[in-house]
Amino acid sequence: MGRKLVTTCAEETLALGRELALELSSLVCLFGDLGAGKTTLIKGIIESATGTNVEQITSPTFVYLQSYGKAHHFDLYRLRGAEQFLDLGFDEYLYGPQLTLIEWPERIETLLPREYTRITLTHAGGDKRYVELEKCRIS
Ligand code: ADP
Ligand code: MG
Repeated sequence: MGRKLVTTCAEETLALGRELALELSSLVCLFGDLGAGKTTLIKGIIESATGTNVEQITSPTFVYLQSYGKAHHFDLYRLRGAEQFLDLGFDEYLYGPQLTLIEWPERIETLLPREYTRITLTHAGGDKRYVELEKCRIS
């Protein structure tokens, strides 16, 4: 029951994030290559969900986590693996109603709970991107 959307520029992805914020909660995992638009989409989501100015939102590539009130943004690109995530005490962010957005969730695939929202961004030539949304429920 997924949805596949298209954006044609970064500003459109930002606007899509602002819209999606209204329906997103709990854990949201964002898959996609470097430059696919994960951070751009997250900026729109966080701005809309918390009122934070987009200019204040940057990807926490070196610190892994940046929190904006009740919204939490992870960038796990440089994480060594699931064990490091647990050592840093981050597992609590995977559960509960607070909004947690994760870039590079592949790094902690074994830790992901049974239910989360999966967003996959794909390059579609030039500035075009596919944005696919699905509710994951592993039984
Ligand atoms: P990621 O976090 O997936 O590595 P970013 O959001 O940081 O990606 O970067 C996406 C880059 O691609 C930005 O430089 C942005 O300006 C550019 N871009 C071009 N078209 C789009 C689009 N449709 N959606 C999002 N970003 C786009
Ligand atoms: Mg990013």
